[in-house]
Amino acid sequence: MQQFNNANNIAISDLVIGNAYTNTQINQAFGCSTQGGINRSHSTNTLVLFVKHNKSLYDDQWDGDILNYTGMGPTGPQDVNYSQNRTLNESNTNGVTVHLFECYRDNEYFYDGVVVLAGPYFTATEPDVNNDLREVVKFPIKFKDSTGRKTIPTKEMLESCKKEKKTIVKKIPDDKLKKAAKNAGKKNPKKTTATTTVIERDPAVTEHTKRRANGKCDLCGNYAPFKSKGEPYLECHHVIQLAKDGPDAYYNTVALCPNCHRKVHIVNSKNDFNFLKNKIKSYLEADNDVESLQAFKELFGD
Ligand SMILES: [Zn+2]
Ligand SMILES: [Zn+2]
Repeated sequence: MQQFNNANNIAISDLVIGNAYTNTQINQAFGCSTQGGINRSHSTNTLVLFVKHNKSLYDDQWDGDILNYTGMGPTGPQDVNYSQNRTLNESNTNGVTVHLFECYRDNEYFYDGVVVLAGPYFTATEPDVNNDLREVVKFPIKFKDSTGRKTIPTKEMLESCKKEKKTIVKKIPDDKLKKAAKNAGKKNPKKTTATTTVIERDPAVTEHTKRRANGKCDLCGNYAPFKSKGEPYLECHHVIQLAKDGPDAYYNTVALCPNCHRKVHIVNSKNDFNFLKNKIKSYLEADNDVESLQAFKELFGD
């Protein structure tokens, strides 16, 4: 999945399934806006559906090969004959082609291709934008060529979505928040598929780092808070993270209690970073490990 990079006007036939497009490109291709969920373009005789996973607490999710797409109408009961709900409802017979995009980050719309109704619409009870329960119209849609879902978000995309949802939730006043939480508790938890890149850690590096700490956290200096399988429970942390290309080597690792491990990832303080860096240096010096000291200096620059 990569960004489409073409300054010239693009047409619908240029769109590649699985690629991401901007507002401008979608405007150009379809002649419709990217505002809201369902957009009709008369010039191209299309209906463009957007699933903005980052913009709503209750975004539509895939259930296998079916996406139950929520109709138009932000508050109050939805009507199947209202505006473009009707066009979508009749799309298997009205000659309008329906295209689907999914969005996880602003101005990055992944093209899923042409979709069709998989069955008749149904109604469900869901919260509206004010977290008041109301009846919504759901359109089960599937890919026209039935080869299954094209856009699988990466873990990073879902993380960025989660952040945006957190921002949405922070703005909900107390009473509405309680209502939203109550409603959420009645639903089944959502399951989302994501692709993830796992960086493998060398077990010898991890084990050596923990033994070197001798049962105590390299940050707070306290004994591990509990034991696991008879050993003090500490976690191996990479001072320069693997995700940021830090090496999986013991001149870059420390053993932390779970509390401190959380803290370093969440607080991300320069003081902790320097403290841990010096801790590693002192281990290497005490061990007279000249080779690793050299690698340490190259990595941290001192
Ligand atoms: Zn600690
Ligand atoms: Zn860590």
